[in-house]
Amino acid sequence: MSSASYPANTVDQALHLLQTVFGYPAFRSQQGQIVEHVVHGGDALVLMPTGGGKSLCYQIPALIRHGVGIVVSPLIALMQDQVDALAEVGVRAAFLNSTQSFDEILAVEKKMREGELDLVYIAPERLLTQRCLELLEIVDIALFAIDEAHCVSQWGHDFRPEYIRLSILHERFPQVPRIALTATADQQTRDEIIHRLQLENALQFVSSFDRPNIRYQIVEKANGRKQLLDFIQAQHAGDAGIVYCLSRKKVEETADFLNENGITSLPYHAGMDMTERSRNQARFLREDGIVMCATIAFGMGIDKPDVRFVAHLDLPKSVEGYYQETGRAGRDGASANAWMAYGLQDVVQQRRMIDESEANDTYKRVQGAKLDAMLSLCETLNCRRVQLLDYFGQPSEPCGNCDTCLSPPTSFDGTIAAQKILSTIYRVDQRFAAGHIVDVLRGIDTERVQQWRHEQLSTYGIGSDKSEAEWRAILRQLIALGLIAVDYENYSALKLTEASRAVLRGETKVQLRQYKKAEKAVKHKRQSAKDYAETELGAEEQALFDKLRWWRVETARTHNVPAYVIFPDATLREIARNAPQTLTALRAISGVGDKKLDSYGTEILQLIAELHAA
Ligand code: ADP
Ligand code: ZN
Repeated sequence: MSSASYPANTVDQALHLLQTVFGYPAFRSQQGQIVEHVVHGGDALVLMPTGGGKSLCYQIPALIRHGVGIVVSPLIALMQDQVDALAEVGVRAAFLNSTQSFDEILAVEKKMREGELDLVYIAPERLLTQRCLELLEIVDIALFAIDEAHCVSQWGHDFRPEYIRLSILHERFPQVPRIALTATADQQTRDEIIHRLQLENALQFVSSFDRPNIRYQIVEKANGRKQLLDFIQAQHAGDAGIVYCLSRKKVEETADFLNENGITSLPYHAGMDMTERSRNQARFLREDGIVMCATIAFGMGIDKPDVRFVAHLDLPKSVEGYYQETGRAGRDGASANAWMAYGLQDVVQQRRMIDESEANDTYKRVQGAKLDAMLSLCETLNCRRVQLLDYFGQPSEPCGNCDTCLSPPTSFDGTIAAQKILSTIYRVDQRFAAGHIVDVLRGIDTERVQQWRHEQLSTYGIGSDKSEAEWRAILRQLIALGLIAVDYENYSALKLTEASRAVLRGETKVQLRQYKKAEKAVKHKRQSAKDYAETELGAEEQALFDKLRWWRVETARTHNVPAYVIFPDATLREIARNAPQTLTALRAISGVGDKKLDSYGTEILQLIAELHAA
């Protein structure tokens, strides 16, 4: 499909391919400029949120430029689906990775040498082999696309050592344009990508990182699992979602718990064997309404467009992680929820993991700062989205679609409460953990209190006006603020810090977030994609939409591809709304390109005709 000569007008040619091959009427945001820049041989760094449309930024230039486009991606499990999706629109694509037999690899290599491929996806470790680099020397290369470019960052949780060696592409193939793409946007990661991949001269394309359809909610954790169940039952019955947990054990337990409560749920973590993991991932992608309970091992590059919620039962390590994980919700643009339950234990646990890691001090300092930013997002009295976008250097206004905007939290002067806690910690010689401190404050007569004669302390019972949950919320905030340290080597005993002395002396005031008792989740008017369809489509349109979805399930099964590879929901909805009677009318719908019209056009028109006849 590549044309040998440069087009007189790149923009026209790019638009023509967008419309005829992919079936979309217009470029989104900066796609057009990026395509033009790369077609003309420029390097590019593309920062675009998940679902923004990064793929077209290298797919179209690869079609226009002479030779094959090489896409470096760590997501081996997704390569088959990506290649299938391209085949559906008539683009000649293949992949090279460790899942293939030697014969399969030979076949792809042969096609590359003979110029019969437009795009080849290659895993980084495969690309870096002598064999592959030599092959690249003798074929015409249109461009290198480095997908998930943040994997080059040593501080990020997706770090892949092979990515660092990708600078070899620039050294060995200096004339080939490179386009690096990522959805992780903080300045540090951006700088690392530029530096390590030698992209100093690349043009940067930074899109807005806002995901307006995602509603952010962070609730105080009481009984996390139960709160999760309430949340799903009240707002997401029958929806697909992802629940993130920190440990493998918790993943398994949570999946069991949801299944026992009638919510179809599958586990996914690095401790499971490969086949079972892939099977669960495939079911999640292909079936409707499955909840995946997973560690962060799951999800990078998950292309499922209709994930309606992402829930966190444990605190992510960084704002980047939180943004990336929650970003897997609502890629189709319909409303979605990012929900998290967060409590004292999360703070203690995350600080401990950093403390106890074997890493060097610099690493610990960076991780500590990342955790602080995450904690501050949890404790904020302001709009979550404003704070989130601010982290990525993007100013914004309160959003009206997060929990702090929808039901603003109140703050109170917590100086006295803080002093009560701090002096109790001091009086028990900084040797006791949170539970005991709260017991002493509330004047609870426990065995441990008697054993240490703590009922004789002047602070015994001075906090009986507050519940245990309230005290824990205050403690959590004081730890998050660095006013209390946790000594992990001594049974998690609480200790004073340099900063806490000023509070004890009354020199610094402490403003805290008022504890909110976990509310029983109310049945909100659901705003899932399904509801959009139900409210916006008339009865006849809905009937056609349902029919089209059934047809898609069948077709996807015969072709052995995920349903969205055939057509996304948005395209089916448009078809249902317009009920086209001719191929020309069908072709005018966004998402219907020439090849798909050829493959499915007649079948779809027939479905429409049948419904009209009935
Ligand atoms: P990303 O890789 O940035 O997460 P994708 O490239 O997978 O996003 O694109 C997300 C979705 O948006 C896909 O379904 C894609 O086909 C669709 N899309 C991309 N660009 C356009 C466009 N210009 N018009 C309509 N749909 C688009
Ligand atoms: Zn907001």
